[in-house]
Amino acid sequence: MNTRIVKIGNIEIGGFKPIAVQTMCNTFTTDIEKTVEQCKRVADVGSDIVRITVPSIKEVEPIRIIRETLRKDGYTIPIVADIHFSCATALKVAPFVDKVRINPGNFHRDHNKAKEEFAKLVVICREHNTAIRIGLNHGSLGDYITNLYGNSALAMAKAAMDWIQMCVDNDFYNVVVSLKSSNTLVMVEAYRHLEAKMKEADICLPIHLGVTEAGNGDSARIKSCIGISTLLSEGIGNTIRVSLTEAPENEIPIASYLANRYATPQSPNKIYSSMTSVEISQGKAIATYDSTSRDKLILDVACDFGKRLLDKEIDEIDIKGSYLDEHGEPQSIEGSGLGEYLEDELMQGARRRFYKPEYVACPGCGRTLYNLEDSFEEVKRRTKHFKDVVIAVMGCIVNGPGEMADADWGYVGEGNKKVSIYKKQELLLKHIPEDEAVDTLIHLIEEDLKNKQ
Ligand code: SF4
Repeated sequence: MNTRIVKIGNIEIGGFKPIAVQTMCNTFTTDIEKTVEQCKRVADVGSDIVRITVPSIKEVEPIRIIRETLRKDGYTIPIVADIHFSCATALKVAPFVDKVRINPGNFHRDHNKAKEEFAKLVVICREHNTAIRIGLNHGSLGDYITNLYGNSALAMAKAAMDWIQMCVDNDFYNVVVSLKSSNTLVMVEAYRHLEAKMKEADICLPIHLGVTEAGNGDSARIKSCIGISTLLSEGIGNTIRVSLTEAPENEIPIASYLANRYATPQSPNKIYSSMTSVEISQGKAIATYDSTSRDKLILDVACDFGKRLLDKEIDEIDIKGSYLDEHGEPQSIEGSGLGEYLEDELMQGARRRFYKPEYVACPGCGRTLYNLEDSFEEVKRRTKHFKDVVIAVMGCIVNGPGEMADADWGYVGEGNKKVSIYKKQELLLKHIPEDEAVDTLIHLIEEDLKNKQ
């Protein structure tokens, strides 16, 4: 989709511009030194844009200093302030950053009041040439929209169009839009609706793509590639974030792979895969690869078949061939068991078949008050025997519960070595000591499964 061009600091996105890759710091914003270091690290490995959390007014001055320090040290990477609830904070920080990411529906429970707050932000952003990202997440849409359309992909697109129309009414076009979900099907459907509605209204703004709370490891890489590549291959998306519960710099090679593979939204489907042949018959694909590494093979397979699985063009996939291991030695894909494993992961990532629990985990940010990465690993290790459950591990009590829309169970760090446990977004237990929390979660899931039998 040919969109308007939006300027974020020294970067332009949209139109025929290359797809920009971005990530987000997971440091405390008040720890200026560590945040500056992390911004430099992600810029050095190729991030075009970096986002930093601003949970309250107290982070406004630190982010100003962080940006200033980076500029003094020769780093021009645009800085985005991540705001969730407080319009007052957005108004304060907007003059000092290149973009403000908001979920305007969160500014106030009353939709009309939220609109008044949003209008104030538009005025400040116009004055300071600051872009806005309208960032809506599945699970945190306002009541006014879910009462009308449910908590659906269509509701996400409708909500975004309402806020976009407000920008147009205020003659403000320095806007990027995102509609994220951890569910690849919902995510793809939402962005497709958004593209159609933007075209219908003749207001095509740049789109930021991402599968939110994708987790870590192979599963997160596969889920992200399925969702993002499906849309990029259709010419939807101008900037992307691969959201991992890992160090932010780990996100960049995957995002760069996707950005390079699909080049610009106007020239999608550049040949990039290590697939050497494919036969598709009666819903089954047999694909052969000759890949330079396991990492590349995983990304290739997810991008080659993600869209076909999501759109139900195929129901089965058989992956063969070889890849080079870390010593440069060729390994057989079928002989090493990697083929079957990748098929399971692809089917689960595209929501076609579940062979293990579905895990949702946010990447963590400056709001996270516990060791999210270790806790997520521990939850995965100890719950992998369950089937047909979605388990979320979230970094903070403020946004975590609202953002785990798809989860059956939520494990949310409160800080102070305490955890809250949720069932379907309803708080069941709070202040559980961290060293008892996984046992408690397992016990609750087991009891629930027994009651269902
Ligand atoms: Fe940060 Fe995770 Fe909380 Fe979102 S849910 S604000 S990523 S800690």
